[in-house]
Amino acid sequence: MHAPPPPKNLLNAPLLGRLLRWRWGRLFGQMLLLLAAILLLYDGFTGPPLAPENLATVIIWVHYRGILIFTLLFAGNLFCMNCPFTLPRTLARKLSLSGKRWPRQLRNKWTAIAVLILYFWLFEWLDLWASPLFTAWIILAYFIAAFVLEAVFTESPFCKYVCPLGTFNFASATISPLQITVNTPSTCKTCVGKECVNGSNQTLGCGTQLFAPRITSNMDCTLCLDCVRACPHDNVALILRHPLAEVTNANAWPRRWDLNILILVFAFTGISNAFGMVPPIYALEAWLAGVLGTNNEGIVLLLIFAALNFALPVGLGLGAAWISRALSKQSESLRVTLSRYAPAFAPLAFAGWLAHYGGFHFLSSALAIIPVFQNFLLDHGITAPGQPDWSLGPIMPLSWLDPIELGIVLAGFAASLYVLNYRARQNRPKPIGLGAQLPWIVLLLGLAVAMLIVFYLPMEMRGSAFFS
Ligand code: SF4
Ligand code: SF4
Repeated sequence: MHAPPPPKNLLNAPLLGRLLRWRWGRLFGQMLLLLAAILLLYDGFTGPPLAPENLATVIIWVHYRGILIFTLLFAGNLFCMNCPFTLPRTLARKLSLSGKRWPRQLRNKWTAIAVLILYFWLFEWLDLWASPLFTAWIILAYFIAAFVLEAVFTESPFCKYVCPLGTFNFASATISPLQITVNTPSTCKTCVGKECVNGSNQTLGCGTQLFAPRITSNMDCTLCLDCVRACPHDNVALILRHPLAEVTNANAWPRRWDLNILILVFAFTGISNAFGMVPPIYALEAWLAGVLGTNNEGIVLLLIFAALNFALPVGLGLGAAWISRALSKQSESLRVTLSRYAPAFAPLAFAGWLAHYGGFHFLSSALAIIPVFQNFLLDHGITAPGQPDWSLGPIMPLSWLDPIELGIVLAGFAASLYVLNYRARQNRPKPIGLGAQLPWIVLLLGLAVAMLIVFYLPMEMRGSAFFS
């Protein structure tokens, strides 16, 4: 029997490999995004106050989110690779004000989960998508937070433990087709300096403290390729893998509460974020405000999103784990049961975000960028080709969107069912049968149905002038 061929190392591909290894390659990508960020800050702070006419709101809430989600699906975490927020961070690292490590108690995903939930709450409460000014402030806040945290702490706590965009990207990249690994594990055994993680006088080591020969997951990998440049043995590889390779690997993730709860939260926020754009949210808000006797929308929304994004995933996840453990008659902790099944939620969770950001907002509004740019040029006395046509938006017939969203959710659901069954069957010493998988199947089915119900309700457009 032949051994499977070694995975293709993209760093050895003719042109792409040279580009990826290029010393200034990352800086070049970061500078491009930095210029884009400066343009968005400028228009956000000084441009038209109407969201559909402002570059900041249209590009961030339509194009950035849409392109990001397709990139994560077909390539990987290329946004973190080219992230402009880490540019001032590099300066901060040189300042290295205190040299402290990030507190041990916070070296987990709980802060990231809390910040992610707070971010989605702020998004709804302050209507970030409708305000160029708030959008610009959010961009600025990212730069400041990345700079301050990197200046105070020695590692890269902003990316690994705080940044909500990074958290979203890490969770999504668990089903991306690119991953860092090493060519020859035996070389690493005799490697003295472990420069891929430690760095050297000339090169940076891994900012998020990943050790290349032990990487089994894209979680926390920013694809910065610092490990590639640091390894003196040219032993680091960037491989193409099956998108489900990580979530079907029982040993890919540590059995930690925070990591596995993060995936459930990632799935539920995908639905609640869309729920914030459909009519029933207003009825729920009014009802809850009446029950609480308050008109404070911030408090009402905080309670709704804390329930939908944290209480519900944790409660239902633990409930499913408890029933599943009882049905399988396994004597193990709930943490172990949850860790066996939570990775199966990643494909459906990602499908929900893909259907919403990519299948709906991006496909229905991508062309809105044309009149917004024309308007920007005209406002600044630059002759634009033609007058803005504010009806531009969809890049395909709108009647196609519902079937596309349905197809994406069904594909994600099928992939999740496959991963669930695979992980259960791989259990040792005894495979786990269909009966004990039932609570998880019901939960996945409930999520898929909830996605379709919410996505098929009339949805507010965010950041574009086009209304369906
Ligand atoms: S990847 Fe390179 S630097 Fe890291 S342990 Fe292996 S040989 Fe050493
Ligand atoms: S593993 Fe390599 S590519 Fe990933 S974050 Fe660390 S240094 Fe960057």
